[in-house]
Amino acid sequence: MTDWNLPREGGCRCGRLRFSISASPLATSACHCTGCQKMTGSAYSLTAMVPADGFVVTAGEAVIGGLRGPVSRHHFCPSCMSWVFTRIAGMDFVNVRPTMLDDPAGFEPFMETCTAERLPFAATGAVRSFEKFPPMEGIGALLRDYAEWAAARDLGQGGASS
Ligand SMILES: [Zn+2]
Ligand SMILES: [Zn+2]
Repeated sequence: MTDWNLPREGGCRCGRLRFSISASPLATSACHCTGCQKMTGSAYSLTAMVPADGFVVTAGEAVIGGLRGPVSRHHFCPSCMSWVFTRIAGMDFVNVRPTMLDDPAGFEPFMETCTAERLPFAATGAVRSFEKFPPMEGIGALLRDYAEWAAARDLGQGGASS
């Protein structure tokens, strides 16, 4: 059985914006899209999909950044500008950036998305790859696959990495 050591605390680069996770992730992923490349200043973004009722901001107040569109609301620390989490309209989960966790062990990506935009050198170790995003009708099976994959790993050793 997976032991996530919940609750897990996290925060931005400067520590003014802090949060707590009290529910195990529904899935973990890396996104190669050019938007994520720009917002992270890196090759891809990392996400832990956490049930909305298992995520709470415990200190500070986030501001909206990115493209400020109506669907994806990207939350940043107003001081250090770290991209901490994203809420998507109509979804009952929060996409938390696992690198914000004080201990990110066990949150390596299960799947990767938007590989059509992947930088040639960018490798994530994900076991499932999608050229764009996974089709919504297959999400249930995908989340079940993630749960099995996560349960099979030893999180205390930092996951499946050798
Ligand atoms: Zn900050
Ligand atoms: Zn992306």
